[in-house]
Amino acid sequence: MIRIAGLTKAYGKLLAVDHIDLEVPKGELFGFLGPNGAGKTTTLRMIAGIIRPTEGRIWLGGDDVIANPLTAKARLGFIPDRPFVYDKLTGGEFLRFVAGLYGQDGDSIERRIDELLDIFELTMWKDELVESYSHGMRQKLIISSALIHRPECIVVDEPMVGLDPRAARLLKVMFRQFVDRGGTILMSTHTLEVAEAMCDRIAIIQQGKIAAQGTMAELREQTASGNASLEDLFLRLTGGPAVRELAEVLGEA
Ligand code: ATP
Repeated sequence: MIRIAGLTKAYGKLLAVDHIDLEVPKGELFGFLGPNGAGKTTTLRMIAGIIRPTEGRIWLGGDDVIANPLTAKARLGFIPDRPFVYDKLTGGEFLRFVAGLYGQDGDSIERRIDELLDIFELTMWKDELVESYSHGMRQKLIISSALIHRPECIVVDEPMVGLDPRAARLLKVMFRQFVDRGGTILMSTHTLEVAEAMCDRIAIIQQGKIAAQGTMAELREQTASGNASLEDLFLRLTGGPAVRELAEVLGEA
């Protein structure tokens, strides 16, 4: 379970995140959408304990991220949008290093490393330096490192960027399996077709505030949008014209 209450981050006068409340129960894949600069990454980085909120609280499982950071973070796998990987380590060494940060080592971790490298088709690259990995291979390694300690919750910022169609499909299947087995995922993405196809519920954040949240059916009801696509709902809720109107404007230009 991921829960945030009154979460706020101010940068000077700018409220990047403005008193938001969200609850993602076990077994749910929750999509976090919003236009550029809306506050998605700032929110996810606060949940992961990377930046400190100005106000508000965050719980991962039963643990408060600020009061009990170590136990809370042990429950979490965080996949950032701009991951950092040590170029001078091999893929295997990097995963061993991350497992060590969670206090895990030994045979079970070696098996886990091999299992994840196999799933992401990186086995051949286990002993190669990360500096020789392509962008997508790095992304797969980062995803593996977030799963290495078998977290209960995953917070993921734009997971599909740079993945080839096969890896993207694999990730979708893995995420679905993860929540079906009782995990919790909070995922930000700009790929609305992915969000519509994958997420159980969705929140749309706009200028630091939640503009709407719910299932696709609930979002359509809240906006009286009939059978609208998520793209149309998104544009409506974030102040832009719906796609049809946009097409008309472009047609007139
Ligand atoms: P995108 O879709 O473009 O990645 P986002 O929804 O993830 O956007 P954030 O990166 O959370 O948006 O940024 C929210 C707001 O906070 C933006 O106005 C951004 O300029 C501002 N911001 C983010 N980090 C900082 C910082 N370290 N210092 C000052 N302002 C910041």
